[in-house]
Amino acid sequence: MLYLVPTPIGNLEDISLRALRTLKEVDLILAEDTRVSKRLLQHYEISTPMQAYHAHNEHHKTKKVVEELLAGKRIALVSDAGSPGISDPGFLLVRACLEAGIEVQSLPGPTAFVPALTASGLPADRFHFEGFLPHKKGRKKRLTYLASLPHTFILYESPHRIQRCIKELNEYCGPERPACLARELSKIHEEYLRGTLADLAEVVERGHKVKGEIVVIVGGDG
Ligand code: SAM
Repeated sequence: MLYLVPTPIGNLEDISLRALRTLKEVDLILAEDTRVSKRLLQHYEISTPMQAYHAHNEHHKTKKVVEELLAGKRIALVSDAGSPGISDPGFLLVRACLEAGIEVQSLPGPTAFVPALTASGLPADRFHFEGFLPHKKGRKKRLTYLASLPHTFILYESPHRIQRCIKELNEYCGPERPACLARELSKIHEEYLRGTLADLAEVVERGHKVKGEIVVIVGGDG
């Protein structure tokens, strides 16, 4: 059995009892960054062995993990924060497991875009999750597509690239589009900046409000 275990995106209390029990009971935890996950495990006094499983080794590691699962090991996959497989490694392993007839259990739990969306004040009945925009190739195509969507869309962004991101969203979607920048969710400096894309451009150009991890939510066209 492979378990996908979501971990806190900020406050360490944002983890389910089931997630903690699973992390205690499995034979091995695959972690995106073992140093990051070690802090969580130490906090909850969990001593399960860990191995690294991340974007740089997932291609060659996946086969070995499948073999271990077939041999009867119980393995959990975690990422640094939030849900494995959401803008984080997971998909390759899940697909390989399913192809090999291994059961996959995905535990419900924290992921950054859900609180960002539900508190944004933008319609959440239909939405598109984009994740990270490509930095170079294909970026314009994605922005053109996103601008044409009739419903809310969601982007993940790093603080280093937020200025460019908001500037381009203004160009493609127009300055009047309602939007929300949700930063440092579930952390001490949690903050929601709501307004039009023009308002957000003004804030990020001033530069002082764009530290930390950020989710960008933009209302649909029309
Ligand atoms: N797997 C994660 C999830 O389920 O949300 C996403 C991982 S992705 C590598 C990291 C991005 O998620 C960040 O750049 C940011 O856009 C978003 N993110 C993660 N934690 C966040 C937080 N506490 N507040 C705001 N955004 C966050």
